[in-house]
Amino acid sequence: MKEQRGTFRTIIQFAQDCKLKFILSVVFAVISVAGGLVPYVGVYQMILLFFEGSPSPDVILFWSGISALGYGLKLIFYGISTTLSHQSAYQILENIRFAIAQSLMSAPLGEVQSHPSGRIKNIIVDRVETIELPLAHMIPEGISNLLLPAAVFLYLIAIDWRLALAALICIPLGAAVYGVMMKNYNTQYAAYMEASNRVNSVIVEYIGGIQVIKAFNRSSGSYEKFADAVDSFKQFTLNWYQSTWKLMNLGGAVLPSTLLGILPMGMLLYLDGSLTPAELTLGMILSMSITAPVAWFTVAVNDWKSIEYAVKDINELLTLPSLPDTARNVPLSSYEVKLENVSFAYNKDGGDVLHDINIRLQEGSFNALVGPSGGGKSTIARLIARFWDVNGGSITIGGTDVRKMPLAQLARMISYVTQDTYLFNCSLLENIRLGRPGASDQEVMAAAEAAQCGEFISRLEGGWSTMAGEAGGKLSGGERQRIAIARAILKNAPIVILDEATAFTDPENENKLQNSIAMLTKGKTLLVIAHRLSTIKHADQIILIHQGIITASGTQQELLEGSRMYLDMWRAHIGAKKWAATGKKVTEADSTEALDIGAGGSVDADRRKGVMAGA
Ligand code: ADP
Repeated sequence: MKEQRGTFRTIIQFAQDCKLKFILSVVFAVISVAGGLVPYVGVYQMILLFFEGSPSPDVILFWSGISALGYGLKLIFYGISTTLSHQSAYQILENIRFAIAQSLMSAPLGEVQSHPSGRIKNIIVDRVETIELPLAHMIPEGISNLLLPAAVFLYLIAIDWRLALAALICIPLGAAVYGVMMKNYNTQYAAYMEASNRVNSVIVEYIGGIQVIKAFNRSSGSYEKFADAVDSFKQFTLNWYQSTWKLMNLGGAVLPSTLLGILPMGMLLYLDGSLTPAELTLGMILSMSITAPVAWFTVAVNDWKSIEYAVKDINELLTLPSLPDTARNVPLSSYEVKLENVSFAYNKDGGDVLHDINIRLQEGSFNALVGPSGGGKSTIARLIARFWDVNGGSITIGGTDVRKMPLAQLARMISYVTQDTYLFNCSLLENIRLGRPGASDQEVMAAAEAAQCGEFISRLEGGWSTMAGEAGGKLSGGERQRIAIARAILKNAPIVILDEATAFTDPENENKLQNSIAMLTKGKTLLVIAHRLSTIKHADQIILIHQGIITASGTQQELLEGSRMYLDMWRAHIGAKKWAATGKKVTEADSTEALDIGAGGSVDADRRKGVMAGA
């Protein structure tokens, strides 16, 4: 597990490339504050003129000009400071999002999958966004709100230190009120975030499951759950508000009331002759400029809290463990894949899913994994592609442990086609090009034609440039799978893994696609996971997996003769096929036929032809 950083350190870590902008933002904020003080000096000078009884229009105009200039400087530099801080904040947001994406890419697949996709989206999009506003405003506003009262305070001291102290009397009073109000702030805020997350997940579930809700006419029951969650969140927020509003308003009234102290103290000092009327007036005006900054701090505390929680969520993804990677490509002697004494568990408490697995997939050979569902077939395929690391034993390709080669090299070597084809929201052409990003349009189209995609793509209004999002709903499972196969054809990797890759294929395209698969897998080290056993009957090696253990392996002929379980599976399969075709029950003769099937020797491409139909 990577180190979890605190809020401040996390933000600083992502602010490295915008350090200069941050510093400039601070400098300009300071200039802006200095500019903001000028009008006070100008006003003081004008007050003096009036009290001295010699206000000439020229001098008044001069000080008005100076004040306006100071105010103008304040606005301009505040504007620049805010622009820079916004740019920095967005840069930080971008850096955080890239870092999360990187963290997800380098984490074992299981780690990523253990976070619901709604939660990941919520963190990358919404939670990261939460920190922008406070972050962008924290610097210019924080600087002015810290420096301005400090400068005003010094100015007040210069007039009379007693007046200065009196101006601050409201701060301990207001702070005491806020202190009482915020007694349970941390626990309340944590409960608020929990309630907010709860309502989020109910909403995601409601929207995500809307098809099932409609199909089973469960709208009223599901809506109730949704409405309850929204209502209880509202209730929670209201209760929190109600428990604090009196103190919040009292604090809000007391904290900025600098006149509370300065007025009586100023009068006393004026009466005993320590202050001139001009100084008293200036003191009162100055003290009022402290009020807004002081009130800002209450907002800042809340903002910081929201940043703290957002960073906590962000860190949840940033600190995912990553699969160790190496940089240097490894020269391989062959594309033989070997699993030696492999054991694996998805999670420590769940127990081993694979036990002491030994498999050798010779270079260029056709291998099949079969067995009851949940036996561990897909797990083996995922381990070869190194979506996870094995817990015991090793997986080697061409004699090199997959953990010792760069993930990128491994990814280049393997085409892994599964049942669920994910389409990215770009054109179908680009979706296929993912197989080999440098491929030309012609190459992509040729691969797509080979995978029998051409016919359905030409039916779409936008053709090749149809966005997958638009087409997604219109594409059948089989069509999506053909896109995945086109990607793999384009990639042309030396090791091909087909995990139920063509389970949804429509019968009318079955034969054509068989040819494409045969082409795709020709000469490759091929591993097929299949339910339809007739499609893998010509494999060089069939491996039967049951409950994470290899119970038999060999050719179809050997398994039919040597494994009761395989024979039963084969009979069931042939029975299902016959039943589907004729409505007849399986007979003894069928299993004899089964025994005969494996005997024929056929050329490599023909043997691999059957793969698609059942894979
Ligand atoms: P098969 O492909 O033979 O149907 P799998 O390899 O998919 O079997 O699954 C083997 C076992 O591992 C099953 O018990 C399954 O529930 C479990 N399993 C599969 N994927 C995960 C996962 N991501 N996290 C935890 N357990 C899993």
